[in-house]
Amino acid sequence: MTIDRQSFPPLDTSKAHPARVYDWLLGGKDNYPVDEAVAEKLPPEARDAARQNREFMHRASAWLAEQGVDQFLDIGTGIPTQPNLHQIVQGITPSAKVVYTDNDPIVLRHAEALLVSRPEGVTDYIQADVRQPQDIVQHARHILDFSRPIALSLIALMHFIPDDQDAHSIVRNLVGTLPQGSYLVLSHASSDVYPELSAQVTAEYAKGGIQLGFRTRAEVELFFDGLDLVSPGLVTATEWFRTDRAPAQEGSGIYAGVARVR
Ligand code: SAH
Repeated sequence: MTIDRQSFPPLDTSKAHPARVYDWLLGGKDNYPVDEAVAEKLPPEARDAARQNREFMHRASAWLAEQGVDQFLDIGTGIPTQPNLHQIVQGITPSAKVVYTDNDPIVLRHAEALLVSRPEGVTDYIQADVRQPQDIVQHARHILDFSRPIALSLIALMHFIPDDQDAHSIVRNLVGTLPQGSYLVLSHASSDVYPELSAQVTAEYAKGGIQLGFRTRAEVELFFDGLDLVSPGLVTATEWFRTDRAPAQEGSGIYAGVARVR
């Protein structure tokens, strides 16, 4: 896509936004005082969780590229933070195609950083909401070949979609468009690993006007219903497969899994 700076939707700096709070937690600079106000009230473990989640994205994307997957649909991309998904997968397969999606106008403003790719590969960006999955798929079909395996990544996204917004059927619909041999990559904040911390985090976000739906292990596992979880299954972010086979050094309140479409 070409970025038309004239048509940027306005940024609302009067209320906190998930992408900007997450950027603060990762140590980024693309956030506003209103976002910082929420982020700095969170327990310090929230910063660990953001880093652990991002590192899971790095490992899972590299693993998929190494399996030969060369098409990626990443929804809830976030503000660019190096290395971004395309840098990881195109570092392994230069011709890999990546379609990024987020609904936050600030991510669109920074999308140029996501669209600088190698001549061999393709990256694209769609400003869209995961709650309209058909719009995303319709656009992605212009770039990705839906008759060949695609990795769909929903990383630290679905806990922004509470149950009253049909989170599980959204994911089912998206996965239903993918051919056999595709993958779902999903990470999700847990409500049951550190219940007190997650209640505290949910309450602080709520004060900033952001509704969260952290989930139990069983609820997160339901996103993978009908799919084949790859080893080591649904685990916490730090436990998800490492090439060095080292055991996880720290606990994590983020669930993470990669599953294959039958
Ligand atoms: N996937 C990235 C960023 C996670 S932060 C990573 O794991 O590092 C969550 C992102 O989801 C934010 O950028 C936020 O703007 C986006 N998001 C939240 N609700 C969304 C929705 N309904 N549709 C699309 N994106 C959404």
